[in-house]
Amino acid sequence: MPKKRALSAKPAEPSVKLSARGAARLQSRHPWVYRSDINSDIDITDANGVPPGALVRVFDQSGKFLGTALYSSSSQIAIRMISHGSVADLPVLVAERIRAAIAYRNEMDLISNTDAYRIVFSEADFLPGLIVDRYNDVVTLQILTQAIDAAPMREAILQTLRDELHPAGIVERVDPRIRELEQLPPLPSRLLWGEKSSTEIRMNGVAFHYDSFEGQKTGAFLDQRENYAAAAEYAHGEALDAFCYQGGFALHLALHPAAKCSAVTGVDSSRPALEMAEKNATLNGREVEWIEANAFDLLRDYATANRRYDTIVLDPPAFAKTKRDLEKALRGYKELNLRAMKMLRPGGILVTCSCSFHVSAGDFLKVVADAAQDAHKSLRVVEKRGASRDHPILLNVPETSYLQCLILRVSD
Ligand code: SAH
Repeated sequence: MPKKRALSAKPAEPSVKLSARGAARLQSRHPWVYRSDINSDIDITDANGVPPGALVRVFDQSGKFLGTALYSSSSQIAIRMISHGSVADLPVLVAERIRAAIAYRNEMDLISNTDAYRIVFSEADFLPGLIVDRYNDVVTLQILTQAIDAAPMREAILQTLRDELHPAGIVERVDPRIRELEQLPPLPSRLLWGEKSSTEIRMNGVAFHYDSFEGQKTGAFLDQRENYAAAAEYAHGEALDAFCYQGGFALHLALHPAAKCSAVTGVDSSRPALEMAEKNATLNGREVEWIEANAFDLLRDYATANRRYDTIVLDPPAFAKTKRDLEKALRGYKELNLRAMKMLRPGGILVTCSCSFHVSAGDFLKVVADAAQDAHKSLRVVEKRGASRDHPILLNVPETSYLQCLILRVSD
Protein backbone atom coordinates (compact mmCIF):
# COMPACT_ATOMS: atom_id res chain seq x y z
CA MET A 1 0.00 0.00 0.00
CA PRO A 2 1.26 3.51 -0.73
CA LYS A 3 2.17 5.52 2.33
CA LYS A 4 -0.18 8.42 3.07
CA ARG A 5 1.45 11.79 3.68
CA ALA A 6 0.20 15.32 3.20
CA LEU A 7 1.93 17.19 0.39
CA SER A 8 3.57 20.35 1.53
CA ALA A 9 5.46 21.37 -1.62
CA LYS A 10 4.50 19.62 -4.81
CA PRO A 11 7.57 18.73 -6.88
CA ALA A 12 7.68 20.05 -10.44
CA GLU A 13 7.77 16.49 -11.76
CA PRO A 14 6.18 13.95 -9.43
CA SER A 15 8.31 11.05 -8.33
CA VAL A 16 7.37 7.53 -7.35
CA LYS A 17 9.27 4.99 -5.35
CA LEU A 18 8.97 1.34 -6.28
CA SER A 19 8.94 -1.77 -4.15
CA ALA A 20 11.89 -4.13 -4.62
CA ARG A 21 9.73 -6.26 -6.91
CA GLY A 22 8.74 -3.25 -9.05
CA ALA A 23 12.37 -2.13 -9.36
CA ALA A 24 13.48 -5.66 -10.29
CA ARG A 25 10.88 -5.72 -13.04
CA LEU A 26 12.20 -2.50 -14.56
CA GLN A 27 15.75 -3.80 -14.26
CA SER A 28 14.66 -6.86 -16.25
CA ARG A 29 13.85 -4.30 -18.97
CA HIS A 30 10.14 -4.81 -18.77
CA PRO A 31 8.49 -1.36 -18.99
CA TRP A 32 5.48 -2.00 -16.75
CA VAL A 33 5.04 -1.59 -13.02
CA TYR A 34 1.79 -2.55 -11.33
CA ARG A 35 0.09 -0.29 -8.85
CA SER A 36 0.79 -2.76 -6.03
CA ASP A 37 4.52 -2.29 -6.60
CA ILE A 38 4.49 1.45 -6.07
CA ASN A 39 5.72 2.54 -2.70
CA SER A 40 5.38 6.23 -3.07
CA ASP A 41 6.41 9.12 -0.85
CA ILE A 42 3.43 10.97 -2.20
CA ASP A 43 -0.06 9.63 -2.13
CA ILE A 44 -0.75 8.49 -5.67
CA THR A 45 -4.40 7.84 -4.94
CA ASP A 46 -4.94 11.45 -3.89
CA ALA A 47 -6.27 13.85 -6.51
CA ASN A 48 -3.63 16.31 -5.34
CA GLY A 49 -0.94 13.72 -5.86
CA VAL A 50 0.24 12.53 -9.26
CA PRO A 51 -2.14 13.82 -11.95
CA PRO A 52 -3.57 11.31 -14.46
CA GLY A 53 -1.20 10.80 -17.40
CA ALA A 54 1.68 12.64 -15.72
CA LEU A 55 5.34 12.15 -16.50
CA VAL A 56 6.92 10.75 -13.34
CA ARG A 57 10.48 10.22 -12.15
CA VAL A 58 10.96 6.68 -10.88
CA PHE A 59 13.22 5.64 -7.97
CA ASP A 60 14.00 2.42 -6.17
CA GLN A 61 13.82 1.95 -2.38
CA SER A 62 17.31 3.33 -1.83
CA GLY A 63 16.52 6.48 -3.83
CA LYS A 64 18.40 5.42 -6.98
CA PHE A 65 16.93 7.05 -10.12
CA LEU A 66 15.62 4.39 -12.55
CA GLY A 67 14.18 6.56 -15.29
CA THR A 68 11.04 8.36 -16.43
CA ALA A 69 7.59 6.86 -16.90
CA LEU A 70 4.05 7.64 -17.99
CA TYR A 71 1.60 7.37 -15.13
CA SER A 72 -2.00 6.13 -15.27
CA SER A 73 -4.28 6.91 -12.35
CA SER A 74 -6.74 4.15 -13.26
CA SER A 75 -4.94 1.22 -14.89
CA GLN A 76 -3.48 -1.61 -12.83
CA ILE A 77 -0.38 -0.93 -14.91
CA ALA A 78 0.31 2.33 -13.09
CA ILE A 79 3.65 2.96 -14.74
CA ARG A 80 4.94 2.50 -18.26
CA MET A 81 8.58 3.44 -18.70
CA ILE A 82 9.34 5.84 -21.51
CA SER A 83 13.05 6.41 -20.82
CA HIS A 84 15.85 5.04 -18.66
CA GLY A 85 17.04 8.65 -18.25
CA SER A 86 15.41 12.07 -17.75
CA VAL A 87 12.93 13.47 -20.26
CA ALA A 88 13.27 17.18 -21.05
CA ASP A 89 10.32 17.50 -23.42
CA LEU A 90 7.85 14.62 -23.81
CA PRO A 91 6.13 15.68 -27.09
CA VAL A 92 9.58 16.12 -28.68
CA LEU A 93 10.59 12.65 -27.48
CA VAL A 94 7.36 11.14 -28.85
CA ALA A 95 7.99 12.73 -32.26
CA GLU A 96 11.55 11.30 -32.24
CA ARG A 97 10.28 7.84 -31.34
CA ILE A 98 7.73 7.88 -34.18
CA ARG A 99 10.45 8.86 -36.65
CA ALA A 100 12.67 6.09 -35.24
CA ALA A 101 9.86 3.51 -35.62
CA ILE A 102 9.42 4.51 -39.27
CA ALA A 103 13.19 4.39 -39.85
CA TYR A 104 13.45 0.93 -38.21
CA ARG A 105 10.93 -0.53 -40.63
CA ASN A 106 12.54 1.12 -43.67
CA GLU A 107 16.18 0.46 -42.81
CA MET A 108 15.54 -3.18 -41.89
CA ASP A 109 13.43 -3.58 -45.03
CA LEU A 110 10.47 -5.02 -43.07
CA ILE A 111 7.72 -3.59 -45.24
CA SER A 112 8.50 -4.53 -48.79
CA ASN A 113 5.67 -5.72 -50.98
CA THR A 114 2.96 -3.91 -49.01
CA ASP A 115 1.44 -0.46 -48.64
CA ALA A 116 -0.29 -1.47 -45.38
CA TYR A 117 1.69 -2.08 -42.22
CA ARG A 118 2.02 -1.15 -38.55
CA ILE A 119 4.12 1.96 -38.02
CA VAL A 120 4.07 2.15 -34.21
CA PHE A 121 3.38 -0.83 -31.94
CA SER A 122 3.18 0.66 -28.47
CA GLU A 123 5.78 -0.78 -26.05
CA ALA A 124 7.55 -2.65 -28.87
CA ASP A 125 8.40 0.75 -30.40
CA PHE A 126 9.10 2.40 -27.02
CA LEU A 127 5.86 4.38 -27.24
CA PRO A 128 3.57 2.75 -24.65
CA GLY A 129 -0.08 3.49 -25.37
CA LEU A 130 0.20 4.41 -29.05
CA ILE A 131 -0.62 2.27 -32.07
CA VAL A 132 -0.34 3.63 -35.60
CA ASP A 133 -1.14 1.71 -38.79
CA ARG A 134 -0.73 2.80 -42.37
CA TYR A 135 -3.21 1.71 -45.01
CA ASN A 136 -1.80 3.13 -48.22
CA ASP A 137 -2.69 6.86 -48.02
CA VAL A 138 -4.82 6.55 -44.84
CA VAL A 139 -3.22 6.44 -41.40
CA THR A 140 -5.11 5.22 -38.34
CA LEU A 141 -4.11 5.67 -34.76
CA GLN A 142 -5.25 4.27 -31.44
CA ILE A 143 -4.59 5.99 -28.14
CA LEU A 144 -4.60 3.61 -25.20
CA THR A 145 -3.42 5.61 -22.18
CA GLN A 146 -4.03 8.87 -20.32
CA ALA A 147 -0.54 10.18 -21.06
CA ILE A 148 -0.80 9.77 -24.83
CA ASP A 149 -4.30 11.30 -24.81
CA ALA A 150 -3.02 14.69 -23.63
CA ALA A 151 -3.43 17.56 -26.14
CA PRO A 152 0.30 18.33 -26.62
CA MET A 153 0.95 14.66 -27.32
CA ARG A 154 -1.86 14.43 -29.85
CA GLU A 155 -0.51 17.53 -31.58
CA ALA A 156 3.03 16.11 -31.77
CA ILE A 157 1.75 12.76 -33.07
CA LEU A 158 -0.40 14.31 -35.80
CA GLN A 159 2.28 16.73 -36.93
CA THR A 160 4.94 14.00 -37.12
CA LEU A 161 2.69 11.61 -39.04
CA ARG A 162 1.78 14.38 -41.50
CA ASP A 163 5.40 15.43 -42.01
CA GLU A 164 6.77 11.91 -42.37
CA LEU A 165 4.02 10.12 -44.29
CA HIS A 166 2.04 12.84 -46.13
CA PRO A 167 -1.24 10.88 -45.87
CA ALA A 168 -4.58 11.90 -47.37
CA GLY A 169 -6.31 11.23 -44.04
CA ILE A 170 -5.53 10.46 -40.40
CA VAL A 171 -8.26 8.66 -38.46
CA GLU A 172 -8.49 7.95 -34.74
CA ARG A 173 -10.10 4.57 -34.03
CA VAL A 174 -11.53 4.53 -30.54
CA ASP A 175 -12.04 1.47 -28.37
CA PRO A 176 -14.69 2.82 -25.95
CA ARG A 177 -13.85 0.12 -23.39
CA ILE A 178 -10.24 1.24 -23.19
CA ARG A 179 -11.21 4.89 -22.74
CA GLU A 180 -13.52 3.85 -19.96
CA LEU A 181 -10.82 1.78 -18.25
CA GLU A 182 -8.41 4.71 -18.49
CA GLN A 183 -11.14 7.04 -17.16
CA LEU A 184 -10.94 9.20 -20.26
CA PRO A 185 -14.02 11.01 -21.60
CA PRO A 186 -15.77 9.13 -24.42
CA LEU A 187 -14.83 10.03 -27.99
CA PRO A 188 -16.13 8.79 -31.33
CA SER A 189 -13.89 7.27 -33.99
CA ARG A 190 -13.32 10.15 -36.42
CA LEU A 191 -11.15 11.80 -39.03
CA LEU A 192 -8.49 13.88 -37.25
CA TRP A 193 -6.90 15.34 -40.31
CA GLY A 194 -7.38 15.42 -44.10
CA GLU A 195 -10.33 14.03 -46.01
CA LYS A 196 -9.83 10.35 -46.67
CA SER A 197 -10.89 7.53 -44.35
CA SER A 198 -11.21 4.67 -46.83
CA THR A 199 -8.88 3.41 -49.51
CA GLU A 200 -7.49 0.35 -51.26
CA ILE A 201 -4.43 -1.50 -50.04
CA ARG A 202 -2.20 -4.10 -51.63
CA MET A 203 -0.32 -6.78 -49.67
CA ASN A 204 1.86 -9.35 -51.48
CA GLY A 205 0.18 -8.27 -54.72
CA VAL A 206 -3.37 -8.93 -53.44
CA ALA A 207 -5.78 -5.97 -53.24
CA PHE A 208 -8.18 -5.24 -50.35
CA HIS A 209 -10.71 -2.53 -49.63
CA TYR A 210 -10.06 -0.64 -46.42
CA ASP A 211 -12.49 1.50 -44.45
CA SER A 212 -11.23 2.93 -41.15
CA PHE A 213 -14.70 3.06 -39.65
CA GLU A 214 -15.47 -0.61 -40.28
CA GLY A 215 -14.12 -3.92 -39.10
CA GLN A 216 -12.14 -5.28 -36.18
CA LYS A 217 -8.81 -4.14 -34.71
CA THR A 218 -7.71 -1.21 -36.85
CA GLY A 219 -9.52 -2.85 -39.77
CA ALA A 220 -7.32 -5.55 -41.24
CA PHE A 221 -5.12 -8.21 -39.71
CA LEU A 222 -1.82 -6.65 -40.69
CA ASP A 223 0.01 -8.97 -38.30
CA GLN A 224 -0.80 -11.93 -40.60
CA ARG A 225 0.59 -10.31 -43.76
CA GLU A 226 3.79 -12.36 -43.95
CA ASN A 227 1.91 -15.52 -42.93
CA TYR A 228 -0.47 -15.05 -45.87
CA ALA A 229 2.49 -15.17 -48.25
CA ALA A 230 4.10 -18.09 -46.38
CA ALA A 231 0.84 -20.08 -46.45
CA ALA A 232 0.56 -19.46 -50.19
CA GLU A 233 3.99 -21.05 -50.72
CA TYR A 234 2.71 -24.46 -49.58
CA ALA A 235 -1.02 -24.28 -50.36
CA HIS A 236 -2.40 -26.59 -53.04
CA GLY A 237 -5.51 -28.41 -54.21
CA GLU A 238 -8.81 -27.80 -52.46
CA ALA A 239 -8.42 -25.19 -49.72
CA LEU A 240 -10.55 -24.16 -46.75
CA ASP A 241 -10.02 -20.97 -44.71
CA ALA A 242 -12.16 -21.61 -41.63
CA PHE A 243 -12.18 -18.17 -39.93
CA CYS A 244 -11.67 -16.07 -43.02
CA TYR A 245 -12.89 -12.58 -41.92
CA GLN A 246 -12.49 -10.35 -45.00
CA GLY A 247 -10.57 -13.01 -46.88
CA GLY A 248 -6.93 -12.41 -45.87
CA PHE A 249 -5.74 -16.01 -46.20
CA ALA A 250 -8.45 -17.19 -48.61
CA LEU A 251 -7.62 -14.52 -51.21
CA HIS A 252 -3.91 -15.22 -50.96
CA LEU A 253 -4.61 -18.94 -51.48
CA ALA A 254 -6.74 -18.07 -54.50
CA LEU A 255 -4.53 -15.36 -56.04
CA HIS A 256 -0.91 -15.50 -54.91
CA PRO A 257 1.30 -16.77 -57.74
CA ALA A 258 2.96 -19.31 -55.40
CA ALA A 259 -0.35 -20.94 -54.37
CA LYS A 260 -1.56 -23.89 -56.42
CA CYS A 261 -5.15 -24.16 -55.25
CA SER A 262 -7.88 -25.48 -57.52
CA ALA A 263 -10.72 -24.15 -55.34
CA VAL A 264 -10.86 -21.98 -52.23
CA THR A 265 -13.68 -21.78 -49.66
CA GLY A 266 -13.79 -19.14 -46.91
CA VAL A 267 -15.95 -19.62 -43.81
CA ASP A 268 -16.88 -17.04 -41.20
CA SER A 269 -19.78 -16.48 -38.80
CA SER A 270 -19.91 -12.75 -39.59
CA ARG A 271 -22.00 -11.72 -42.59
CA PRO A 272 -20.50 -8.18 -42.86
CA ALA A 273 -17.00 -9.74 -42.91
CA LEU A 274 -18.04 -12.07 -45.74
CA GLU A 275 -19.65 -9.23 -47.69
CA MET A 276 -16.33 -7.41 -47.58
CA ALA A 277 -14.51 -10.64 -48.49
CA GLU A 278 -16.71 -10.94 -51.59
CA LYS A 279 -15.98 -7.31 -52.54
CA ASN A 280 -12.28 -8.04 -52.14
CA ALA A 281 -12.55 -11.09 -54.39
CA THR A 282 -14.30 -8.98 -57.04
CA LEU A 283 -11.62 -6.29 -56.72
CA ASN A 284 -9.07 -8.96 -57.64
CA GLY A 285 -11.25 -10.50 -60.34
CA ARG A 286 -11.30 -13.95 -58.75
CA GLU A 287 -14.11 -16.19 -57.55
CA VAL A 288 -14.04 -17.62 -54.05
CA GLU A 289 -16.84 -19.52 -52.31
CA TRP A 290 -17.88 -17.84 -49.05
CA ILE A 291 -19.97 -19.68 -46.44
CA GLU A 292 -21.61 -18.05 -43.44
CA ALA A 293 -21.38 -20.65 -40.66
CA ASN A 294 -20.06 -21.54 -37.26
CA ALA A 295 -16.70 -23.07 -38.16
CA PHE A 296 -16.85 -25.60 -35.30
CA ASP A 297 -20.18 -26.98 -36.57
CA LEU A 298 -19.13 -26.86 -40.20
CA LEU A 299 -15.88 -28.74 -39.57
CA ARG A 300 -17.76 -31.38 -37.57
CA ASP A 301 -20.40 -31.82 -40.29
CA TYR A 302 -17.83 -31.93 -43.09
CA ALA A 303 -15.70 -34.43 -41.17
CA THR A 304 -18.74 -36.66 -40.61
CA ALA A 305 -19.60 -36.40 -44.31
CA ASN A 306 -16.00 -37.43 -45.17
CA ARG A 307 -15.18 -34.15 -46.94
CA ARG A 308 -11.48 -33.88 -47.67
CA TYR A 309 -9.16 -30.92 -48.26
CA ASP A 310 -5.54 -30.42 -49.28
CA THR A 311 -5.05 -27.14 -47.40
CA ILE A 312 -6.81 -25.87 -44.27
CA VAL A 313 -6.23 -22.55 -42.51
CA LEU A 314 -7.38 -22.06 -38.91
CA ASP A 315 -7.13 -18.49 -37.63
CA PRO A 316 -9.82 -18.26 -34.94
CA PRO A 317 -10.37 -15.27 -32.66
CA ALA A 318 -8.41 -15.18 -29.36
CA PHE A 319 -9.94 -17.97 -27.24
CA ALA A 320 -8.03 -16.95 -24.10
CA LYS A 321 -8.67 -13.27 -23.40
CA THR A 322 -7.58 -13.78 -19.77
CA LYS A 323 -5.41 -16.31 -17.97
CA ARG A 324 -8.51 -17.89 -16.46
CA ASP A 325 -9.74 -18.87 -19.95
CA LEU A 326 -6.57 -20.82 -20.71
CA GLU A 327 -7.87 -24.37 -20.12
CA LYS A 328 -11.02 -23.75 -22.13
CA ALA A 329 -9.04 -22.07 -24.88
CA LEU A 330 -6.68 -25.02 -25.17
CA ARG A 331 -9.65 -27.39 -25.50
CA GLY A 332 -11.04 -25.18 -28.28
CA TYR A 333 -7.73 -25.17 -30.19
CA LYS A 334 -7.39 -28.93 -29.77
CA GLU A 335 -10.84 -29.65 -31.08
CA LEU A 336 -10.44 -27.42 -34.14
CA ASN A 337 -7.04 -28.78 -35.04
CA LEU A 338 -8.18 -32.36 -34.53
CA ARG A 339 -11.09 -31.90 -36.91
CA ALA A 340 -8.92 -30.19 -39.52
CA MET A 341 -6.24 -32.91 -39.34
CA LYS A 342 -8.85 -35.61 -39.88
CA MET A 343 -10.05 -33.85 -43.02
CA LEU A 344 -6.64 -33.33 -44.62
CA ARG A 345 -5.52 -35.65 -47.39
CA PRO A 346 -2.02 -37.17 -47.23
CA GLY A 347 0.49 -34.42 -48.04
CA GLY A 348 -2.06 -31.85 -46.94
CA ILE A 349 -1.08 -28.52 -45.40
CA LEU A 350 -2.42 -27.17 -42.11
CA VAL A 351 -1.85 -23.49 -41.32
CA THR A 352 -2.91 -23.05 -37.71
CA CYS A 353 -2.81 -19.86 -35.65
CA SER A 354 -3.42 -18.60 -32.13
CA CYS A 355 -3.61 -14.90 -31.33
CA SER A 356 -4.22 -15.46 -27.60
CA PHE A 357 -1.36 -13.89 -25.67
CA HIS A 358 -2.00 -16.27 -22.76
CA VAL A 359 -1.33 -19.27 -24.99
CA SER A 360 2.46 -19.46 -25.26
CA ALA A 361 4.32 -20.85 -28.26
CA GLY A 362 5.03 -23.96 -26.17
CA ASP A 363 1.37 -24.38 -25.12
CA PHE A 364 0.23 -24.06 -28.71
CA LEU A 365 2.72 -26.55 -30.10
CA LYS A 366 1.69 -29.00 -27.37
CA VAL A 367 -2.02 -28.65 -28.04
CA VAL A 368 -1.55 -29.14 -31.79
CA ALA A 369 0.63 -32.21 -31.02
CA ASP A 370 -2.13 -33.60 -28.76
CA ALA A 371 -4.62 -33.11 -31.59
CA ALA A 372 -2.33 -35.05 -33.97
CA GLN A 373 -2.12 -37.89 -31.45
CA ASP A 374 -5.92 -38.11 -31.24
CA ALA A 375 -6.23 -37.85 -35.02
CA HIS A 376 -3.69 -40.71 -35.43
CA LYS A 377 -1.66 -38.61 -37.86
CA SER A 378 2.02 -37.74 -38.16
CA LEU A 379 2.74 -34.18 -39.19
CA ARG A 380 5.94 -32.29 -39.87
CA VAL A 381 6.38 -28.72 -38.68
CA VAL A 382 7.30 -26.92 -41.88
CA GLU A 383 7.49 -23.43 -40.30
CA LYS A 384 7.01 -21.88 -36.86
CA ARG A 385 5.99 -18.31 -37.36
CA GLY A 386 4.71 -15.24 -35.51
CA ALA A 387 3.43 -11.80 -36.39
CA SER A 388 4.81 -9.88 -39.37
CA ARG A 389 8.07 -8.11 -38.60
CA ASP A 390 6.39 -4.69 -38.58
CA HIS A 391 4.87 -5.89 -35.26
CA PRO A 392 8.18 -6.12 -33.39
CA ILE A 393 8.70 -8.49 -30.48
CA LEU A 394 10.57 -6.84 -27.65
CA LEU A 395 12.85 -9.53 -26.24
CA ASN A 396 12.11 -8.95 -22.56
CA VAL A 397 8.42 -8.17 -22.99
CA PRO A 398 6.52 -11.42 -23.61
CA GLU A 399 3.27 -9.47 -24.09
CA THR A 400 4.60 -8.30 -27.48
CA SER A 401 4.76 -11.91 -28.74
CA TYR A 402 1.10 -12.90 -28.94
CA LEU A 403 0.62 -14.47 -32.37
CA GLN A 404 1.58 -18.07 -33.16
CA CYS A 405 1.34 -19.53 -36.64
CA LEU A 406 2.38 -23.10 -37.43
CA ILE A 407 2.57 -24.50 -40.93
CA LEU A 408 2.38 -28.30 -40.87
CA ARG A 409 2.32 -31.05 -43.46
CA VAL A 410 0.44 -34.27 -42.98
CA SER A 411 2.67 -37.21 -43.84
CA ASP A 412 1.82 -39.32 -46.87
N1 SAH B 1 -7.84 -14.83 -40.83
C1 SAH B 1 -8.44 -13.51 -40.78
C2 SAH B 1 -8.70 -13.03 -39.37
C3 SAH B 1 -9.63 -13.91 -38.57
S1 SAH B 1 -10.24 -13.10 -37.15
C4 SAH B 1 -7.54 -12.53 -41.49
O1 SAH B 1 -6.35 -12.82 -41.65
O2 SAH B 1 -8.01 -11.47 -41.88
C5 SAH B 1 -11.35 -14.25 -36.56
C6 SAH B 1 -12.62 -14.37 -37.36
O3 SAH B 1 -13.35 -15.45 -36.81
C7 SAH B 1 -13.57 -13.17 -37.32
O4 SAH B 1 -13.82 -12.76 -38.63
C8 SAH B 1 -14.85 -13.70 -36.67
O5 SAH B 1 -16.03 -13.18 -37.28
C9 SAH B 1 -14.74 -15.17 -36.94
N2 SAH B 1 -15.42 -16.08 -36.01
C10 SAH B 1 -15.51 -16.01 -34.67
N3 SAH B 1 -16.13 -17.11 -34.17
C11 SAH B 1 -16.44 -17.89 -35.24
C12 SAH B 1 -17.06 -19.16 -35.39
N4 SAH B 1 -17.47 -19.87 -34.33
N5 SAH B 1 -17.18 -19.65 -36.63
C13 SAH B 1 -16.75 -18.99 -37.71
N6 SAH B 1 -16.14 -17.79 -37.63
C14 SAH B 1 -15.99 -17.25 -36.42
